Amino acid sequence: MNTKQVKEVKSLLNKPKNIVIVTHWSPDGDAMGSSLGLYNYLIQKKHKVTVITPNDYPSFLFWLAGNNKVIDFSKKTKSAKTAVAKADLIFCLDFNSLKRIDSLGVEVAKSNAIKFMIDHHLQPEDFAQYMLHDIKACSTCELIYDFIKLMGDKKALNKNIANCLYTGIMTDTGSFRYPSTTSKTHRIIAELIDAGAENGDIHNRIYDGNTEGKIKLLGFSLSEKLTVMKDFKTAFFSLTAAELKKYNYQKGDTEGVVNYALSIEGIRFAAFFVERDGIIKTSFRSKGTFDVNLFARTHFTGGGHKNAAGGMSELTMEKTINKFVDLLPAYKKQLNSSK
Ligand code: 5GP
Ligand code: MN
Repeated sequence: MNTKQVKEVKSLLNKPKNIVIVTHWSPDGDAMGSSLGLYNYLIQKKHKVTVITPNDYPSFLFWLAGNNKVIDFSKKTKSAKTAVAKADLIFCLDFNSLKRIDSLGVEVAKSNAIKFMIDHHLQPEDFAQYMLHDIKACSTCELIYDFIKLMGDKKALNKNIANCLYTGIMTDTGSFRYPSTTSKTHRIIAELIDAGAENGDIHNRIYDGNTEGKIKLLGFSLSEKLTVMKDFKTAFFSLTAAELKKYNYQKGDTEGVVNYALSIEGIRFAAFFVERDGIIKTSFRSKGTFDVNLFARTHFTGGGHKNAAGGMSELTMEKTINKFVDLLPAYKKQLNSSK
């Protein structure tokens, strides 16, 4: 956003508006933290704000302030469509392609509202009049902090906003350890704590509410399903719908498990395949120069960041894994030289 645009957005937000906030399919901590962080800021400015998710999200995020007002498009399609149709302004958070919000994208594309994308993923599409886009940002929550500051409203940061933004920064940086974590990230975190973020409690609420099934599913995945291919510095595992059912799978139970494969010494590329809603969802992670965004885009109709990306496959689980394994030799050199 240039100075002129900042001025325009400030004056747009000067009078109460109907505002809709949408975020990506299967929202994670950053998607919900940024959406509800922005929600809690905008309601202070007397706007009428509706947060819409394309589908449901993990229960460990339900404590975020404003969560009870969120509309799930897949369940309350009619009221979500009405809110989008009435909107003067639509904020698109933590995604940059309307495909990422599934059929909710059709409604957003149809709407005459002014669109504002705030995002940190690679290769943004051109559908918004205003963009706060930075691939160097550790999270969309970091950009929401920047946005509030650009609006000249740092004083508006309160406990609810701070808790939401802390959550997204914490989850998207793997608790402040990925290379995307900068001194700026830590400075923002310090300000959020000063504004009331309950940092210790947030870690407990997000990471220590595991069910027995989730922990046993993790144990099963690691002991029975992990394949390590040292020649390719690659490790991967998969879970079928039947395996999820056996361990009483709840939304969010497999979030982050791909990182266990990446944590093995010498491994530079990790993949996780899970059968959900009749398709295979893929998660890719890398260390160093190996670009999983490009890999996901090229082979699994996906995308994301250089070191963390996702995608999907309409093949069977067995065929998806075979496709993945068959692709590795072509990347052997890159994988072995990934610094
Ligand atoms: P995860 O593996 O945790 O689902 O996703 C890793 C990263 O890739 C996240 O930043 C997520 O937003 C992005 N991502 C996941 N799935 C997809 C997808 O199907 N398409 C695109 N473009 N990005 C994805
Ligand atoms: Mn994010």
